[in-house]
Amino acid sequence: MFSKIIAGEYFLANYYNKDLYKVLNLTYKATKEEIKSAYRKLVMTCHPDVSSDENNTKKFQEIKEAYDILIDDNARKKYDILHGYFREKLEEELKKSQKKQKDAEYIKKAKEKANTSEPFSKAMNEALDSLFKTKTKKNSQDYKKPVNGSDINVDITVTFNEAVNGTNRKVNILHTQPCPNCEGRKFINGNQCPMCKGLGTISAQKSLNVKIPKDVKQGSKVRVRKEGNKGLYGGKDGDLYLIINIEKNPYFETDGLDIICTLPITPYEAVLGAEVTIPAPGGNASVKIPPMTSSGQKLKLSGLGLTNKSKTKTGDMIIKVLIKLPDKLNGNEIELYKKLSEISNSDIRKDMKNAK
Ligand SMILES: [Zn+2]
Repeated sequence: MFSKIIAGEYFLANYYNKDLYKVLNLTYKATKEEIKSAYRKLVMTCHPDVSSDENNTKKFQEIKEAYDILIDDNARKKYDILHGYFREKLEEELKKSQKKQKDAEYIKKAKEKANTSEPFSKAMNEALDSLFKTKTKKNSQDYKKPVNGSDINVDITVTFNEAVNGTNRKVNILHTQPCPNCEGRKFINGNQCPMCKGLGTISAQKSLNVKIPKDVKQGSKVRVRKEGNKGLYGGKDGDLYLIINIEKNPYFETDGLDIICTLPITPYEAVLGAEVTIPAPGGNASVKIPPMTSSGQKLKLSGLGLTNKSKTKTGDMIIKVLIKLPDKLNGNEIELYKKLSEISNSDIRKDMKNAK
């Protein structure tokens, strides 16, 4: 009798949105005995033999249908699955058993239990899947959705030379990882894990040797894959980012891909011109200072800056000339400067008088 009602779409359409337990004034936890007794009580009030009132007849039919489904073990299971009660029952069952359940096994088991009747297996699986999707957020204790580990940022200070030529560094980082005691599950045999205090993760220190590539820019991020916080329940590990701070150097600094060099020259080099050698990426570079070069004048060495990561662009070296006196001058030098001052008649500040 019952199999006729339950077969096919009819069942889905009519009972998915109907709360059959409510019809019998029960909860989904009701035992078979409670269902029987609730049915007996309700039927007495609206049985067609008692009253032929139209509302009564309708109510009687409703109660009868609810009873027919809920009293049949198979039909009740199907209804519970579609209505979401089945999963809750399963959860309770699992909690009671207090066994460590792996996520995949848990879903598999639930689906296996659901796969009892062919025409409904698809609908049931879908119902279960959607239940998992919506309920796992609230109830992550039983079903562990993969959680990706977050990234970690660490500030690294390097010298100018290290920034240009690359280097290695040992860094100590504090990162989170799944608790080794409960394997991230927060509970052990139903009790809060004492090691992580129910967090599922612990903080740990680790020491890493990292490689800082050549040509890193001020403020740039160097990525070290998978060395961030560990993922949970099969989630991906985060990355470690080294945020580069280039130490101040009195002669060299960077501006994007350009290297700015402050080059001290003597007064006579400034007057007569010179060729000087300076350190540059990939070795030394030769700089030609033209005669009559003033302090602050800029010279450019094309292509002697940093190269970007994709190696598509290289900056320049910009040289700012600074005329500088030696710390000490000998007597002869001073004599010559004296002579120079006597014979020089140029007025270097003549423009200053007219400046407004
Ligand atoms: Zn733990």
